[in-house]
This record gives sequence, structure tokens and C-alpha cells, in this order.
Amino acid sequence: MSTFQAPKGTYDLLPPSSATYLAVREAISAPLRNSGYGYVETPGFENVELFARGVGESTDIVTKEMYAFETKGGDRLALRPEGTASVLRAALEANLHKAGNLPVKLWYSGSYYRYERPQKGRYRHFSQVGAEAIGAEDPALDAELIILADQAYRSLGLRDFRILLNSLGDKECRPAYREALQDFLRGLDLDEDTRRRVDINPLRVLDDKRADVQKQLAGAPLLRDHLCDACRAYHQEVRELLSAAGVAFEDDEKLVRGLDYYTRTTFEFVHDGLGSQSAVGGGGRYDGLSEMIGGPALPSVGWALGVDRTVLALEAEGVTLDLPATTSVFAVPIGEEARRRLFGVVTQLRKAGVATDFAYGGKGLKAAMKAANRSGARYALVLGERDLTEGVAQLKDMESGEQEPVALDAIVEKLGSRLA
Ligand code: ATP
Ligand code: MG
Repeated sequence: MSTFQAPKGTYDLLPPSSATYLAVREAISAPLRNSGYGYVETPGFENVELFARGVGESTDIVTKEMYAFETKGGDRLALRPEGTASVLRAALEANLHKAGNLPVKLWYSGSYYRYERPQKGRYRHFSQVGAEAIGAEDPALDAELIILADQAYRSLGLRDFRILLNSLGDKECRPAYREALQDFLRGLDLDEDTRRRVDINPLRVLDDKRADVQKQLAGAPLLRDHLCDACRAYHQEVRELLSAAGVAFEDDEKLVRGLDYYTRTTFEFVHDGLGSQSAVGGGGRYDGLSEMIGGPALPSVGWALGVDRTVLALEAEGVTLDLPATTSVFAVPIGEEARRRLFGVVTQLRKAGVATDFAYGGKGLKAAMKAANRSGARYALVLGERDLTEGVAQLKDMESGEQEPVALDAIVEKLGSRLA
């Protein structure tokens, strides 16, 4: 061990399990890449104001969880706690919305940072894959994103997850609901912090996890009963499109996001094997966000799925991904001249696209064959002194144990076609 350890709330991805993380990112993004979403990458930090406005001044993320700092040049920056604000900022900055092709559909993958209390499934550095569809108000777009996330989880072999769905209304119907909710909440026995939340962010109170609060919320007015006709019709259309696609969901009237720029569709993916960190992903419509960060009106919808928790969900369900072996051929030279000659063959094999590794460090045959075994390679390619004089190498099938001589200048072709 060195003097240093990974910072609190973080962990390293190391082989072999790191391959699972790569495969999860790949599986989540595959349906997006197949559906017209283009890859976007933004910096790991942004002007802190972008998140204050784009996530919300009154959210936990901004008030408690953000890594904000001042640079030597005096800029106020923050490590990104989430992806949507950055992606929208980038799209607006590059005028993607003016190219005349709305919605702009983007996907991303990367690291996010939140100063949280570390526990299983909750880290200070974590990884998300996300998608945003910017600039169109169309229930089919909301449905598309939910269907693609469902497809992603299923392609990984996950089954014990549920989709929770709600509508948050819009600027027509939510203000009246907000007031009705505030009236109700002000009549409850709540602590000072929560009473403050009733003033700034009353919808968030519905999301309170504490049992004594939940008990008091039993008779709370529900947004469902306050939706305007347009929001009701929109929500019904999303629900019907999901049902038609065979995607099961549950209506959850208490699923909320507190801020005014989140509108209509909101959803969360929860996994039942994860205990209290059960949300594997979430998203929804944010029709007012663009204006909040100084852009034009651009109704948009998106989601972010947590890679770390998705990996935990796989473990909880006992799913092991069928990952291709990283090494197909492991080359074992015996002696100095064989080493030079075989290293050349290895380079040729790699050029031909055959995943090949080599016994480095002048190992003896026994240790080298052990390394070949550990590598998981399908074949070992052994070159001894006598083979050299005969112009062949011994190709050993690691599964059957069978061995055959192959002419040195025919190896690339032979292995290329066998492994194709
Ligand atoms: P939670 O309610 O668990 O705090 P959240 O509402 O803060 O989640 P989002 O901001 O919607 O989460 O982020 C989307 C997804 O990113 C979450 O569903 C989760 O899978 C993942 N995620 C969020 N915060 C963390 C974290 N600190 N560690 C690991 N994964 C996280
Ligand atoms: Mg959180």
C-alpha cells in the first residue's frame, strides 16, 4: 500500500470488475445511439451560477452537495453535480437549437461530484449516462426516453426494477396547486427546516422520507386532481404510448421535483434490491430551464441513469454479464531468439485485430503457461528452440488442451479466421 488512499466517498474501478462498468455504459448508451442521439461531452466543471440556476438555489444539490471553489484567476466554478444544465448550456452556446432541426437529441457519459454522506450506492464521485432531447414538446419524446431506458436495463438482464411516473403540471395549473398544497402543509406539525421548505419548495415536502412526515401527508392535495386539460391530455398520451410499447409503469402521485422549470412528465427508475439507495435513474421534462439560464423557450426532456447503482442492481439480481474475453491469444516464447521472433508475430496478430498478449519478463515455460491460463486466452502460442528451426509454433487450445504445430508465416491467417 502507498501513503495515499482514494478520497472518502470514492472508489477505483479496477480489472476485472471494471469491465462490467464499461459494459454498463455501453449498454445504456446503445439504445440512444440507435435512436438519433448524438454524443456530447462538456467540461467537468462549470461556472457555479449555471448549477445554482440550472439545478435550483433551494435544492440539496446546490445548497449542500456542490464542490464549489474559486480559481487563482478569481472565477467561481463548481465540479459538475449533474449533466442537464451543462448539456443545455453547451447546446445553447453552439446554437444547436438554431440549426432548424428540433429536437436536438444528445447523450453523454461521465463523472459527477456531490458532497454527500458516503454509503453503499451513494458516493462523492459517481458516474452517469444521460440523454437530453431539447426543443420539442411532444409526448412521444417523453415516451421514447422512458422506453429507451427500459430497453437499456432489460438488455443488461435486469428485471426487478420499476418505473414510477407522474405529471408535475405546468405554469397554467401548478401555481394554484402549489398554493393549495402550502395551505395544507401549513396546518401540519413540521420542524423549522421543513416549514421553510413549505415556503420555497413545497412540492419537495411530499418527497420527505421520514415516517412521521409521511403519516401527516396522508390527506395532502394531489397534483393529479389539479392538472389543467392540456397537461392531463399530455400525460395521458405519454401513458398510452408507454402501454402500447409494452412498458409497464406505476403512477406515483408523490414523485416530484421541486422547481418551477420542471414541468409535466417526471419519472424515476427504482430497483428493489438496493435498499434505501433504490433510485437507479431519473428524469423528466424541464420546459422552463433554458429560459432560467438565459436562453430562449426550449421545452425539453431528459434522464440520467446512475452507472454505479446499475452495477449494484446487477449484483443484487445475481446477473453476470457475458463479457468477451479480453485476450484471445497468449504468446509464450522459450529462449532469446524465440522471444524476438514471437514478439513480431504478436504485433502482426494485433494489427490483424486479434487480441493478443505476451509472456514478458523472461518467464520460464511453467510460469508463462500459468500466465496464459490467468489471461483467459482461448489459445496459447508457444515458440521453442526446436520449433524455430522447423519454422513452426505450437498452437494450444486452452479449453481442450489439444496442441498442433502451425507454420510461423501462416499463424496470423489461421488465428484470424478461427477467431472471426
Ligand atoms: P437520490 O434520491 O438517491 O439522492 P437523486 O435524485 O439525487 O438521487 P439524480 O440527480 O436524479 O439523483 O441522478 C440520477 C441518478 O444518478 C440517480 O438515480 C442515481 O442512480 C445516480 N446518483 C445520484 N447521486 C448519486 C451518488 N451520490 N452516488 C451514486 N449515484 C448517484
Ligand atoms: Mg441526491
